[in-house]
Amino acid sequence: MDFLPFTRPAIDEDTIAAVGEVLRSGWITTGPRCQQLEAELSAFCGGRPVRLVSSATAALEMALQIAGIGPGDEVITCPLSWIATANVILKVGATPVFVDADPLTRNIDLSKIEAAITPRTKAIIPVDLAGLPVDRDRLYGIARRHKLRVVEDAAQSMGANWQGRRIGREGDLISFSFHANKNMTSGEGGCLVLNNDEEARLFEKLRLQGVTRFADGTMDVDVLGGKANMTDIAAMIGLGQLKKLDGFNARRRELARLYFQHFDRSLGCALPPEDFQNSNWHMFQPLLPLQRMRIGRGEFIARMKAEHIGVGVHYPAMHLFTLFREKGYAEGQFPVAEDIGARTVTLPLFPAMRDEDVIRVCQTFSAVLRAVLH
Ligand SMILES: *Cc1c(COP(=O)(O)O)cnc(C)c1O
Repeated sequence: MDFLPFTRPAIDEDTIAAVGEVLRSGWITTGPRCQQLEAELSAFCGGRPVRLVSSATAALEMALQIAGIGPGDEVITCPLSWIATANVILKVGATPVFVDADPLTRNIDLSKIEAAITPRTKAIIPVDLAGLPVDRDRLYGIARRHKLRVVEDAAQSMGANWQGRRIGREGDLISFSFHANKNMTSGEGGCLVLNNDEEARLFEKLRLQGVTRFADGTMDVDVLGGKANMTDIAAMIGLGQLKKLDGFNARRRELARLYFQHFDRSLGCALPPEDFQNSNWHMFQPLLPLQRMRIGRGEFIARMKAEHIGVGVHYPAMHLFTLFREKGYAEGQFPVAEDIGARTVTLPLFPAMRDEDVIRVCQTFSAVLRAVLH
């Protein structure tokens, strides 16, 4: 039986041929294909300025710089995310302030944000975990009341929407990732949606050594920038993917529906919210009933793998990583995030999966788990 990974990018032959043309064209780094993808992403985001970068991590870090966040500032986020979300706060010299997750949405608990705000708080980084958007109305209500910037970590929510409004069209600064595992990919890459041309100009400088070029061939450097531009090779992949994003996400929704239909609900697993309105179904993640199991999560994943099914973990609560423990975070501070982070497993979900694959995953999951329940 073929191994079924938990995710797999879907790159069509037209895209592969188009990448070949870029390679033959003599221009493979940042150029016309990046410009075209920026224009198409801008249209996708209601005409707002969008700028490409080599990763969403770079986009988030530069977004914090654009918001003027640095040493002495606090930034609120949730411990249940990919580590990039908190790393970028440390990178700009600011302090991450974690707020626990909501047990149902598994996103930041909006009712707990205001208690974490201090005079030093400058911004919130909400994360749309698994592609399920954070409630944008409540989030921006809090941000407005406390005059905070918002840097949306929408790495997983490309093509998702909040109450019919597409993520990326409204709000403050919004970062998307085009990493290979995301709903649309450029291999590696990302972009930031900005508020105006002034922010976009600063972002362009930050992503490429702080350089401004003039028409007469001269240049100046007036800010310290890094090196995070995207290549035309990556942009060409992104152009092929963006065309198919809505179709990919529609297929993901169908597959998620099948998971809910076929999942054995007598196992004692908590399932994600059945949201077919807002989510782009980046991932499908049951929580294991660890207390009732004779084996741990690692062994469960190994047994699924032995049945040719890939299972991932996204993510352990990040305040428990050594880097954060060394800064004083400890077990017990964010019990909901810790519980979800300890029990979560990511089951296969990607557009090229067949209906039978979902059924096989559900049957195998049930058999493997049933054998170890007490
Ligand atoms: C993937 C991801 C990132 C980082 O994206 P890269 O493009 O890999 O830098 C950040 N936050 C979340 C929630 C992600 O899933």
